[in-house]
Amino acid sequence: MKLTNDKIKYICLITVLVGIVFLNFYDFKPEKKKIGSIEEGDYVQVTGFIQSMEVTRDRYGKIQDIKYIKIIDDTGGDLRIYPSKEVKEDLIEYIYSYTPSIKENDLIQVVGRVEIFKGIYLIRLKDIKNFKLIEKRNFERDIFLSPTPTGIYASKYGKVYHTSNRCPYGKKIKENNKIYFYTEEDARDLGYRKCKWCASEEN
Ligand SMILES: [Zn+2]
Repeated sequence: MKLTNDKIKYICLITVLVGIVFLNFYDFKPEKKKIGSIEEGDYVQVTGFIQSMEVTRDRYGKIQDIKYIKIIDDTGGDLRIYPSKEVKEDLIEYIYSYTPSIKENDLIQVVGRVEIFKGIYLIRLKDIKNFKLIEKRNFERDIFLSPTPTGIYASKYGKVYHTSNRCPYGKKIKENNKIYFYTEEDARDLGYRKCKWCASEEN
């Protein structure tokens, strides 16, 4: 076989294409690793418990934005998952696709490339497919406030809830400062105690 310039170009092109395909394929296979053994640049699949979630909530208690989710495993290390802007909405939706929603102590799995920023190990989540609940461990129920008035209310600055509209103490709360609960159990679980006037009126 005689190698003409065209043939050489052709061989080079094929080699480059095969290389690109190989590199992509290589990238699609994350290595299963423990948090304690991950290194910068690793493309990994990590399973761990949610230790904390850095979120902002709306006035009704629903997650509105997620800065990061911190996971830990038995190696003692921790890893933060930072969702990119494009994936935040999907992640919040995924978190609430479970009842109760995904929270601390739940076991999750993440796939991505490890980065180190200021000594912190992190993975930037760009695709919701790379974040998965493995096991629900925290069955603490979700409590949200009611966006519309109910008969159970409190001042957002206080720790007492009211159940009567005739309550003289309840009447003192400015409309703008009122929060409404769906149930008394919700109010109690959020750390509010029942107003004595309202309680005595019921008896
Ligand atoms: Zn009251």
